[in-house]
Amino acid sequence: MKSLKSVTFLLILSAFSTLKAQNLPTGTSWTVTQNKKVKVHTYMSPSAMFANTSHVIELKNELIIVDGQFFAPYALELKEFTDSLGKPVTRFYVSHDHPDHYIGFGDAFPNVPVYALAETKAAIEQAGQGVLEQRQAQFGPMIASKLNKPSVVQQPGEETIGNVKFIFEKSVNNESAVSLLIKLPELGVYIAQDIVYNKIHLFIEGDTKGWETALHQIIKDKTYQTILSGHGKEGGIELLNENLNYLAFVNETILKSKDKEEFKAAILKKYPEYGGEQLVDIYLDYYLEPNTWAK
Ligand SMILES: [Zn+2]
Repeated sequence: MKSLKSVTFLLILSAFSTLKAQNLPTGTSWTVTQNKKVKVHTYMSPSAMFANTSHVIELKNELIIVDGQFFAPYALELKEFTDSLGKPVTRFYVSHDHPDHYIGFGDAFPNVPVYALAETKAAIEQAGQGVLEQRQAQFGPMIASKLNKPSVVQQPGEETIGNVKFIFEKSVNNESAVSLLIKLPELGVYIAQDIVYNKIHLFIEGDTKGWETALHQIIKDKTYQTILSGHGKEGGIELLNENLNYLAFVNETILKSKDKEEFKAAILKKYPEYGGEQLVDIYLDYYLEPNTWAK
């Protein structure tokens, strides 16, 4: 999901009314897969709150987290989950610089070293504090009081951590400008984050060619059967084709529609079971502006 410059009124209302009722919907966590050396778990916020995922890689003596939520209460739930595993969190990875992946965890994990690609680290250093303050003004106590910014640059390449092989790769011009991919070949796990959505509306800003290329690259990489997404549950290779079909339908529908209402109606009709409808509103209000549509 992109930077959510102004999240919809609808979402603000629903977030605050649920907060008031002290009845914020809770997230869920589960174990995705494991072998003798490593387990991979996912924590996910509710689908009305973007179904943001944080993945927890459990090694023999330590935990590594990938991505840290948008809303602070969900980062605190993630902390409860990692506490329940009884091992220290030694690294916190941020996959890309969209706020739903890095603004949530500053209070829940204030002292864990945060790792990111050099580009992501620089982008958050430059804009992160301003983004945090803007969201605090919009959402009040739903937003963390501070950031824990990336302090360690992750270079692309291979690394063995806790006796488990990790492969770090940089992908560009997909759903975001730069993103970190993390692969665990011994488990067949591919942590793709926002290149892959699962039953959540994909966040469309314009041209999707680079995104499609990134999906095709994952399909080619035959070592991996378990694809971890940034929004929604994990899936197999079929998820990649689903995302490609979704993007193709979006591009077709952009050409066939005369305005945003017609476009949105067609997307919701084609994908009635998908969550994250407010993501469609956000990108239609602030990002996607085909010049063929009526203003
Ligand atoms: Zn996202």
